[in-house]
Amino acid sequence: MDRRKFINCLVSATAGSTAAIPTLGAQTEAASRSRGLRVVCVGAHPDDPESGCGGTLRLYAEQGCKVTVVYLTRGEAGIRGRSATEAATTRSAECEAACQVLGVEHTFAGQIDGATEITPERASDFAKLLIKLTPDVVLAHWPLDAHADHAIAGNLALRACLSQLPETSLYFFEVYTGRQTLNFHPTDYVDIHSSREIKKRATFAHASQNPAEWYPHHEKMEQFRGAEAGVSFAEGFVRLAHLGKGVVSRLLPPVRNCG
Ligand SMILES: [Zn+2]
Repeated sequence: MDRRKFINCLVSATAGSTAAIPTLGAQTEAASRSRGLRVVCVGAHPDDPESGCGGTLRLYAEQGCKVTVVYLTRGEAGIRGRSATEAATTRSAECEAACQVLGVEHTFAGQIDGATEITPERASDFAKLLIKLTPDVVLAHWPLDAHADHAIAGNLALRACLSQLPETSLYFFEVYTGRQTLNFHPTDYVDIHSSREIKKRATFAHASQNPAEWYPHHEKMEQFRGAEAGVSFAEGFVRLAHLGKGVVSRLLPPVRNCG
């Protein structure tokens, strides 16, 4: 898509669209038109951003947005029989490969898998990291999650946006709903029919996690959210519309009409 078409997508937003790609609050819209959207995705472990909202991340990248994945940890506890250092090395390389597939950048927030914390100091450090990335849109774990690291990642993003980034549009994504993400009812959907294969390839870059065993569950989630949104495959999000300054997030038209 060329830049003019992308801007047309931005300005012709219509509230209430299904299968739309989350965009920014009105107050930051003008500024972002001049430099392109900045999107940040916060995941607890390597493979969470990819499996949770990789289809949406890819669509943002295709539209020329600057997309950065923030991994809270390097997955230190994620490979049985390997030391934390060995696992972190392997999984960091998998992050690199996955983000290359998606066409996005990535960074690590320096916490440890299985031992993540939300303290005033940790919250402050995380907010500083997010502020540096100047996001218009933040996608983060839904904070109600059976995995403590996921819940902490979601809450760190929430605290940072509430306290430091009130004009940022914040959306929560789901991972392994039913076993991890709890009580999740999307407010917004993104049609990912054109990006789901790339999402799958990115997720399968995390070979140490045996994605063939659990990815079929995510494909069922894509189909279920698609059925809710009236398309074949979708990712669902919960939108936090107000972040303290009356900013109301807006929706782009359906992605399939933007190309
Ligand atoms: Zn995880």
